[in-house]
Amino acid sequence: MRDTAVDHRMIMGAPVKARILAEVKDYVAAAERTAPVGRLVSISIGDTPEVAVYVRNQARGANAAGIRFDQQLWNAEISQEDCKARISEMNNDPDILGIIMQRPVPDHIGIRSLQSAIHPLKDVEGMNPASIGNIVYSDVALAPCTAAASVELIKQTGLDLKGLEVVMIGHSEIVGKPAAFLLMAEGATVTVCHHMTRSLAMHSRRADVVVVAVGKPHLIGPEMIKPGAVVIDIGINQITDANGQTRIVGDVDTDAVLEVAGWITPVPGGVGPVTVAILMRNAATAHKRQLAAGWIDQNPR
Ligand code: NAD
Repeated sequence: MRDTAVDHRMIMGAPVKARILAEVKDYVAAAERTAPVGRLVSISIGDTPEVAVYVRNQARGANAAGIRFDQQLWNAEISQEDCKARISEMNNDPDILGIIMQRPVPDHIGIRSLQSAIHPLKDVEGMNPASIGNIVYSDVALAPCTAAASVELIKQTGLDLKGLEVVMIGHSEIVGKPAAFLLMAEGATVTVCHHMTRSLAMHSRRADVVVVAVGKPHLIGPEMIKPGAVVIDIGINQITDANGQTRIVGDVDTDAVLEVAGWITPVPGGVGPVTVAILMRNAATAHKRQLAAGWIDQNPR
């Protein structure tokens, strides 16, 4: 059994999370002296246990950063129109710093149209099409949190991303595509692979950095990784082991790949905690942008 506490090839999320949250806390404490920092609103539609876990982690992150966190649970039967009307009110509420739309939502709710309804200056998850569009122009300050967390963890190795060969496996709107744009903004040479890619290993084996966001346990084995490469495992999969115990694993066969890779993120404990911290950093960025846009009254005390 590996000892993650002492294995320097493991890029642990906790210290990165702590550093980012401390930076945000400092920002919030200083900002509060002149310009009020509103609350974050988390919207869950219907009661889903997996969502409750995310919300709890985000609430803890907000607490650590000194940001108020308002957990709202909307009835699963709510209509799309009512959701949009409520979001519109929140866009106009000066005490609301940012809006988090938890996923999944019930089938009758169109998540993309709700994400589009959140004003880009309150879009702390970076999921509004306008926020995604900014990334294409290398304006990456309000990027989707998981994608930004994977870049943060690569930087943690000390490697300069400029000119590095990065293979992004997975091309979802939430993770893979924005991560590819963030990596390009850092100067990496990016190849994006997906379920239609022929010979995934041919691509992954020549990469200096492999980022995986697929949702398939053990998809990536040691034969697919170049010796010394960085492996960022975004996948979250619940599996039942031989003893009948359920546990969470990523998309990478971590123990086996550890024998080949230079650095690897564990699951759990790698990308997940950093994602929460990036959400809080995005909240601080939203505050700066709202100030610059004249949305927040400044009252020097
Ligand atoms: P998704 O289902 O939207 O996308 C999966 C992607 O994997 C697609 O691009 C698909 O083409 C690709 N794919 C499927 N099979 C493949 C194969 N055999 N080879 C190569 N590519 C293949 O998933 P998502 O929302 O992007 O999430 C991916 C994983 O990341 C999930 O396990 C999810 O739980 C996890 N996730 C983690 C965090 C976090 O904070 N750590 C956040 C979001 C998602």
